[in-house]
This record gives sequence, C-alpha cells and structure tokens, in this order.
Amino acid sequence: AAIEEARGAYAHHRWEAAPILAAEAEAGDTEEVRNPARPRDTVGTVTWAAPGTVAAAAEAARTWDATPEERARVLNRAADLYEANYGEIFAILHREAGKSLMDAVAELREAVDFLRYYAARTAGDPPVGTFACISPWNFPLAIFTGQISAALATGNAVLAKPAEQTPLVAWRATQLLHEAGVPRTALQLLPGAGEVGAALTAAPAVGGVAFTGSTETAQVIHRAMAENLAPGAPLIAETGGLNAMIVDSTALPEQAVAAIVESAFQSAGQRCSALRCLYVQEDIAEDFLEMLTGAMDALRIGKPWDLTTDVGPVIDAEAKANIAGYIDAASEAGRVVKTCDTPDQGHFVAPTLIRVKGIADLEREIFGPVLHVATFKADQIDRVIDAVNATGYGLTFGLMTRIDDRVQHVSERIEAGNVYVNRNQIGAIVGSQPFGGEGLSGTGPKAGGPTYLERFRAHPADA
Ligand code: ADP
Repeated sequence: AAIEEARGAYAHHRWEAAPILAAEAEAGDTEEVRNPARPRDTVGTVTWAAPGTVAAAAEAARTWDATPEERARVLNRAADLYEANYGEIFAILHREAGKSLMDAVAELREAVDFLRYYAARTAGDPPVGTFACISPWNFPLAIFTGQISAALATGNAVLAKPAEQTPLVAWRATQLLHEAGVPRTALQLLPGAGEVGAALTAAPAVGGVAFTGSTETAQVIHRAMAENLAPGAPLIAETGGLNAMIVDSTALPEQAVAAIVESAFQSAGQRCSALRCLYVQEDIAEDFLEMLTGAMDALRIGKPWDLTTDVGPVIDAEAKANIAGYIDAASEAGRVVKTCDTPDQGHFVAPTLIRVKGIADLEREIFGPVLHVATFKADQIDRVIDAVNATGYGLTFGLMTRIDDRVQHVSERIEAGNVYVNRNQIGAIVGSQPFGGEGLSGTGPKAGGPTYLERFRAHPADA
C-alpha cells in the first residue's frame, strides 16, 4: 500500500530534464520522452546538451576537493535521498524504461548499494581528474549511479552522459546527488545521444572514461581515446555477453525452469547478463522442454506498473523491430519452439524459445526476451564448454547439476566473469561477488570489486 501511494502520485507526472552544468551553455533541442508500454503517454521532456556544451562543461569541471570523510558522508546522504524518493524513482523506471516493479525495486537497491559501497572506500590515492561516465538504458539508474559514485568516491570530476532513451531518471538522480552535497563542478549531466558521448571521448580535458554498453561502441571509444586523450587514460568498459547455461540430467527440473525463466525473460531479456543459450542434456530434453514451455505460458506480459506483470516492453520501437525481425526469420526457418502472446499496444516482444545446434549459431547478442536451446549428450560437457568459450565473450554462465565434481570441473574450465550454480543467472552481490566480464565482455576489474576503484585513481608510481 505504501508503494502504491508513493508511486501513484507520479502516475501522470511529466518530468522536464535538461543538462545540469557548472557553467552557462547554449541549450540544444527539446524532445518528448515516451512510455515504451504506452507510446502515447508522454513521460516528460528532455533538453539535450548542445554539441558545444561538452567543451564548456569540461572546462568548468573541478576534481572534488573534499576530505574522504566528507565525500563518504555526501554519498551516503545521496543513498538516503534515493531511498526516500523511491515512489518517484519507481514511477520513472516504469514509465521511461519499462521496468516492472520487481526490476525497479532491484535497480534502486543496486544503486543504493553502489553509493554506500563506494562511500565506504573513499580514502586512497589521488583522482585521475575528469571522468566521462557513459551509461546505457537497460540499468539507467544502477549503472549510471555505479559509474558516477565510483568516480566521485575517488575525488574525480564527472561528466555524465546517460543513454538517450533514459535521460529522466539520470536527471532526477543527478539532482539528488547535488542535493546531497556533490558540487556542481564535480558532477555535470549532459543528456544526449552518441555524438555527445563521442565529443566526451575527444575532449582533451577528459582523463578517463567509464563506459557500459555494446562491445562495438566500446571499441569505437577505445580508438577515439587513443587518438584524442592523454596516453594511458583509463577506459573502464563493461560490455555485452552471449551467456549460456548447462542443465544436466541430475538437475532439479523445477528449480532449473524457474531460474531459466528469470534469467532469460526478466527485464524482457534486456540485461547483458541474461541467459541466451540453454544446453539441456539430451536424455531429459523432451520432458524438460515441456515444463519450460509450460512456464512460458504462465508468464504475464503487460504494463510494467501492474503488480502481476512478469515481462514488460522492450525499450523502444527500434529495439522491438530488430528483435521481432530476428524471431520472424527463425520462425520461417522452422526453429521457433515456443512463443507467447503480447498486448497489441506498446513495444512488447513475445518471450520466445528458438532451437539451435549450439551457441555458435548465435551470430550476435539479441537484446530481448529470446532464449535459444540446444541439447548435448552425457559425454559432451567439455564440447559445450569449448563452444561457449569460443564465442570470445565471458560474462555469465549457469550450471544446473547435482554432481559435485562437475561444479568444480566446469567452473575451472569456463571462461566467464560470473558463474552461477543452481540458481538464476542474475546480477551481482556487491562486494562478495563483483559483477563483470572477461574477453569481449569488458576490460575488468569488476564493478563492486576491491580493485575496481583503483582504476579511478591516479597511480603516480606507474607513470
Ligand atoms: P546499446 O546497444 O546499449 O544502446 P550503445 O553502446 O549504443 O549500446 O550505447 C551505450 C552508451 O554509449 C549510450 O549512452 C550511447 O549514447 C553511448 N554512445 C553511442 N555511441 C557512442 C560513441 N561513438 N562514443 C561515445 N558514446 C557513445
């Protein structure tokens, strides 16, 4: 009831986001922000940063010259303010990002955890200088906050560029960080699309970049930094994944099905950690897939703010068209095992199961509620692991088994940043299991891990 009341007040609110800068700058265009579940609902407006804004912001940026104790106090106060404003934050996450209540709760929790985790680690070497923090739309509060709070905890100045799809929640979060006491010179917000990001990676005053998004964009940024920024400027990148799970014949089927449905379809599959390719041992495959498709039938697909919704919309019309086109092609090839019904209005994509021979059939990461399934024979575990390792990604991997030795064997051989055994393949536990990838999935070390913050600090001895 408290949640209903708190978010209900914002069910029809219109937010007006704009750049938040430490210096005067010319404003860019203003655009409406639409609700992905109900495209006629205007959630608010955003005024973009004009192309010239990046240079002005970079010039006005100053490292956060406060004691570590003061930085810790401010970040903890920001965590308190995030928590106090939960109703408004949930409403923005529902209406701007299409997040279900469960996802919104988890996302706020993660953002608050990041603030408090980094607040506890503010002491140490001096900052790098000015960090550009470029974040994606799929965790528009948690990743945005995680990057910024790591950079601020270490005393850097931040130029934050949220994804163009989700400027409102970033704008509200920035206001709360300022209200908590982060100086404007230490944190500026530059809403914009890729060209604002590109301008940031070409601004000589930028000393380092934290990026989460696609592997392709990370590669573009890497090249831009090499050309424009000082040699050795750190790039902290978290990128995509092609994640797999093995279910062997000893797995508990109910547990495995529940974990698979969550791992593949929660957040409408729009997580870099999401399960994309399921390997089921041949002996149990028929019965197991019957259970799995039954569980897919039970999924409720609908408005993110309804308490009974399991799967909301994808982020926008372009994402929907891309994923739907992929599913159609698989359907024409006779490879769709199961698909679901969706509401007519809004950017909904049906949770879909597609048969493949193996993970090598997946050419790229489909960022939506699409799960692929392959089978393997009892003696082929190592072949499966080799195929998964050969993708070059290495973000998450799941294993469902009751064989002790197998847990050990697979964990040792699989090249993945995070291995989940007999549970869903979701998220990180900040501190105890830092989240991050290997290979094409990122530059490591992992967010929330002990060595992650070192990347945001200058190490004069290494220079
Ligand atoms: P996604 O597939 O998640 O949209 P992107 O890598 O395209 O992944 O986007 C992640 C973030 O990178 C967004 O904030 C986007 O605006 C930004 N971005 C896109 N192109 C560039 C670029 N050339 N330079 C810097 N940032 C960029």
